[in-house]
Amino acid sequence: MTLVYQSTRDAQNTVTASQAILQGLAADGGLFTPIAFPELELDFESLKDASYQEVAKLVLAAFLDDFTEEELDYCIDNAYDGKFDTAVIAPLIKLNDQYNLELFHGSTIAFKDMALSILPYLLTTSAKKQGVDNKIVILTATSGDTGKAAMAGFADVPGTEIIVFYPKDGVSKIQELQMTTQIGANTHVVAIDGNFDDAQTHVKQMFNDKELGAKLLANHAQFSSANSMNIGRLIPQVVYYVYAYAQLLKTGAIQNGDHINFAVPTGNFGNILAAYYARQIGLPVGRLVCASNENNVLTDFFKSGIYDKKREFHVTTSPSMDILVSSNLERLIFHLLGNNSAKTKELMEALLEKGEYRLENADAAILELFAADFATEKETAAEIKRIYDSTHYIEDPHTAVASAVYHNYKLATDDKNPGVIVSTASPYKFPRVTVAAVTEEDSQDDFTAIADLQKISGTAVPKAVAGLKTAPVLHKNVVAAADMQKAVEAYLGL
Ligand SMILES: *Cc1c(COP(=O)(O)O)cnc(C)c1O
Repeated sequence: MTLVYQSTRDAQNTVTASQAILQGLAADGGLFTPIAFPELELDFESLKDASYQEVAKLVLAAFLDDFTEEELDYCIDNAYDGKFDTAVIAPLIKLNDQYNLELFHGSTIAFKDMALSILPYLLTTSAKKQGVDNKIVILTATSGDTGKAAMAGFADVPGTEIIVFYPKDGVSKIQELQMTTQIGANTHVVAIDGNFDDAQTHVKQMFNDKELGAKLLANHAQFSSANSMNIGRLIPQVVYYVYAYAQLLKTGAIQNGDHINFAVPTGNFGNILAAYYARQIGLPVGRLVCASNENNVLTDFFKSGIYDKKREFHVTTSPSMDILVSSNLERLIFHLLGNNSAKTKELMEALLEKGEYRLENADAAILELFAADFATEKETAAEIKRIYDSTHYIEDPHTAVASAVYHNYKLATDDKNPGVIVSTASPYKFPRVTVAAVTEEDSQDDFTAIADLQKISGTAVPKAVAGLKTAPVLHKNVVAAADMQKAVEAYLGL
């Protein structure tokens, strides 16, 4: 039996896993979503001794059930390798009475690497399975982090080419260096004279340009997207929840069958949705704590059932959570409504047209699984300090949001389940903010802050930032926004 992935907005639009990965977003604007969950036996007595790759194989085989064993091995072995600076891939650290699941040991020291290191292989394998032998060309406009993580994932993956555009004056010095020093013959980075919206607009135009599409096809190439709504990014995130449970069992922190909670710093709702999927395949999950920063639209949603994006946008120290429309929430809404695509479509259109929707007749059992709250900027900085003062461990601001929210959750409830804080970035990605939180002093610049952070935390500077100051700049192309397409055609020899 093959698992059915259905668009959240059209019951007639159903595909297999590999078709869903190749298409990315459904043509009707919906998201491909499993309408039933695979049944598999999570035998933790044996899983506790399994490697990350072995757990990945079990989970991916269940969800991506039209892939062969060889295909999955190829994808997993190429994704979770020496790019990660630890063989365990996702270490679980005990800090006082909480556990931090570190998802920042990949190329760009943030959790996007967990999925973006395997997506290129899932995408090219899916293409082959569908009889498509075109080169897959990824075009991305980035305001900093996603472009770099995507490039690191696609670098030197056979059958792919990636072109990233960023606003010349719209990213930090460190972010720019991370991109312009990217190695890989199939990677291309272009600064544009313009802002992020200009870059985004032109990328969208190129995606929709039929003439350009035909030119690509004539050259055996086609565009694709590494977008976070792709099921090929969501499913690999289920793996580390199962892995974390196995590690807790292994260390004796829990007994087999005990329930555990996860606190997840949330933006687009992809990471926490993966935790929900882990529960649906049998992981003993107690509560999923959805943590937001001052952009607390999800907190209000879980408390009131009303999703209202009409509010002030806050720029915070946890920028990857500065989001007012959490795209992946659409999948949870679909499940909450009993996989009702007509109703989901209605709500999503209301969000677009009126800026809000109200949940009625939602599955209360699913809703009760979630708790939600937010941390202010002040509370986030205080949490970094609180954890540092008692453990000498430094959390990044995103992780600290979840950590603070979970700390309050425990004070407010008598929930005794062990809690895992999903730790989504290394503090070295946000050196100034983290150092300032601990020392209450501002650093001169990012590089000084990195040195200070090393001193204070006693941890090694990760490769992703250590070599940046001296790494050769390989990408120097700057073009006008209007000339982006010319740059693409030149790279692809069209
Ligand atoms: C993307 C990101 C998040 C938010 O994850 P979602 O899946 O979008 O909810 C949190 N922290 C960091 C560091 C991120 O990069």
